[in-house]
Amino acid sequence: MIDLLLRNARPVGATEPVDLAVDGGRLVPLPPGGEARERIALRGRLVPPPLVEPHIHLDAVLTVGQPRDNVSGSLFEGIAVWADRVKSLTVADVQSRVRQVLRWQLANGVQHVRSHVDVCDSELTALRALLELREEAAGQVDLQLVAFPQLGILSFDGGRELMRKAVALGADVVGGIPHYELTREDGVASVIYAFDLAEEFGARVDIHCDETDDDHSRFIEVMVAETIRRGMSGRVTASHTTAMHSYNAAYAYRLVSNIARAGLHMVTNPLDNAVLQGRFDTGPIRRGHTRVKQLQEAGVNVCIGHDSVMDPWYPLGYGDPVQAAFVLAHLGHMSGAAELPRLLDMVTANPAAALGVEDYGLREGGSADLVVFGAPTDVDAIRLVAPRHLVLRGGRIVARTEPAQTSVVWDGVEESVTFLRDTRG
Ligand SMILES: [Zn+2]
Repeated sequence: MIDLLLRNARPVGATEPVDLAVDGGRLVPLPPGGEARERIALRGRLVPPPLVEPHIHLDAVLTVGQPRDNVSGSLFEGIAVWADRVKSLTVADVQSRVRQVLRWQLANGVQHVRSHVDVCDSELTALRALLELREEAAGQVDLQLVAFPQLGILSFDGGRELMRKAVALGADVVGGIPHYELTREDGVASVIYAFDLAEEFGARVDIHCDETDDDHSRFIEVMVAETIRRGMSGRVTASHTTAMHSYNAAYAYRLVSNIARAGLHMVTNPLDNAVLQGRFDTGPIRRGHTRVKQLQEAGVNVCIGHDSVMDPWYPLGYGDPVQAAFVLAHLGHMSGAAELPRLLDMVTANPAAALGVEDYGLREGGSADLVVFGAPTDVDAIRLVAPRHLVLRGGRIVARTEPAQTSVVWDGVEESVTFLRDTRG
């Protein structure tokens, strides 16, 4: 007798529903006769492995309006507002906000999160708060922390030492922000410094790179070169790279093939960048996204990040990667029949590879970590930003959303509405 039988689940890519058997926290072969202590009928609902959040700034979540509003909504006003908010950070303040958002993420099916943490603070308050939470949340939402120099490494007094201290304290990943450094040369040096530090500590690299509309911002090629020369393929991620949008086609062609050669992971952040980029354009206004489809055609692993949840840069969001995927479907022109299903990979398997998540994916013997969408197909999951009906971690239900009951009164008769094409209503 096994612990749990999930009847009529639809794993990603499966044409017909299948039964999934869970015992001792792992997926196991179906028992003869299908006897289980508990059975749940999933009625053909989509069941992917857990969602993975590759790019968020947890230290800033839920600070929107503090100490004042970002009136213009611009990146630069956001940085100024955050610089003021940082002055009142305490460990308890960071932890209470992050605890709340980690629960939101788990409810959305997210079980692995990479968070950038601002380390331009001599006390490293946010990092200390998050290092404690990494322990507290382990096994529920697994956290990777990036030492992120919001105000630069070379351009911030003591920046190099703070980065080193952050990694020595336990940050998993080395960050950077080369386009924010004072000069191009400082930007190049900051990338090299980040790679040196990562090599020394055996850490991964994830750099905020070329997050600007300036088509002369080309630090991504420095990341490519350092990755190839140091043999760090697979351990390096370039985040944002919105300037790539504006590069000339000849340069972009060479660059994209070198990104593929280097084996860089790429993270695009559709929510924040939709509102932060193109601010100097009077029309037409650039969408401000990296070259997602061109990168994918070259075989590059591209992921979707959420970036912000109610902070000085982005006042909206509730930590759901599917909402970000929905936005990218529009702004990234990914509405083609073969493109829509890729969006789900970009919030599951692709970021799992970028983070190096082990024991990931639905397979016999693997941990029974999975998400049950309130929708039958990957396209419906994106179209409806469908609720996560159930979330399982190690075979246990860790989040549950009861499906909404909607009805209309039509010609005086009440009828249910599901928003699904292939059912009545
Ligand atoms: Zn970011």
